[in-house]
Amino acid sequence: MAPHQYQLLCLENPILDIISKKDGRALLDEYTLDPNGFTMADDKHKSIYDKLLSDPNAVLTAGGAAQNTARGVQYILEPDSVVYFGCVGNDEYAEKLQEANKKVGLKVFYRVDEKEPTGRCGVVVTDHNRSLVTDLAAANCYKVEHLKEHWDMVENSKAYFVGGYHLTVCVPAVMALAEDAAKNNKPFALSLNAPFICQFFKDPLDQTAPYWDYIVGNETEAVAYAEAHSLDLTAPQEIVKHLANLPKKNTQRKRVAIITQGTEPTLVAVQGEEEVKSYPVHPIDKTKIEDTTGAGDAFAAGFFAGIAKGESLEKCVDMGQWLAALGIQEQGPGYPFPKQTY
Ligand code: ADP
Ligand code: MG
Ligand code: MG
Repeated sequence: MAPHQYQLLCLENPILDIISKKDGRALLDEYTLDPNGFTMADDKHKSIYDKLLSDPNAVLTAGGAAQNTARGVQYILEPDSVVYFGCVGNDEYAEKLQEANKKVGLKVFYRVDEKEPTGRCGVVVTDHNRSLVTDLAAANCYKVEHLKEHWDMVENSKAYFVGGYHLTVCVPAVMALAEDAAKNNKPFALSLNAPFICQFFKDPLDQTAPYWDYIVGNETEAVAYAEAHSLDLTAPQEIVKHLANLPKKNTQRKRVAIITQGTEPTLVAVQGEEEVKSYPVHPIDKTKIEDTTGAGDAFAAGFFAGIAKGESLEKCVDMGQWLAALGIQEQGPGYPFPKQTY
């Protein structure tokens, strides 16, 4: 019997989000956090997690950008379509992640690190602001050997999606997927994920660039990319076109670059094409917005589910907008149940 084929294999950092609205202002002061900041935890931040967990109303949700995307793609596609790789600890937090993945039927291959706890992202909520404090912990311990041990899953997957955050963790694993994609003419997608990836992980990012069949990010990441590369470009329309036309290894596929801009239209550039397309977002009533964390991850999920189904770019963008609009009506990065269909 031929082995089962997966539509998409995803790789990145599995993280548990701990969201609390209790004593937010005091916590921001105590840990000198920006109300909308993104902080990589060092030793002085580590006690924040117990404080957040001591809130009886704290919400624990499965996070990690590409894991959110993987769940979203699986939410849309047939059962058993998506596999996800990353590293967790041997603890109850990893079990929580598994529960969320099981809910949508996402299959995961976690490397389990015996020393480090599962990665956590503390979310300090004050009004409409969210300050994120991330401790990668076990997520930082992914090893390319683990991917190699499960290489049959790679061979049996039709496309690869990597979260840019993984460029801080295990570049050899990212490159193994990138090179395999080019060699076998499979699509390789990368999400920029955060401005700091463009600024401080420019070299590994540039190492992956020739392999991008799809590159996706938001407007602030686009600008950070342009700045980090000293491009004399500031308009996202110009930057998206630049990304699409960077040199490409696999010439059998034209690169597609996608830049989302929150409530502003999504921009799409195709390698070699003059026109940058612009697609308005699905408007939703402000009062229905619960949490915009992970909007971009949900967008990527809808978009790549469309790609897996062989839909037109226009329809893929629309599927991305659709899933993002659903996702931001949920607490934490999740998708609504009962399941909705596009
Ligand atoms: P990120 O989460 O990476 O910053 P964006 O903020 O650009 O990504 O959001 C991604 C997509 O999510 C947008 O293109 C849009 O489709 C949807 N989205 C985000 N915020 C809203 C909103 N307030 N109303 C409707 N759709 C939204
Ligand atoms: Mg945004
Ligand atoms: Mg994003």
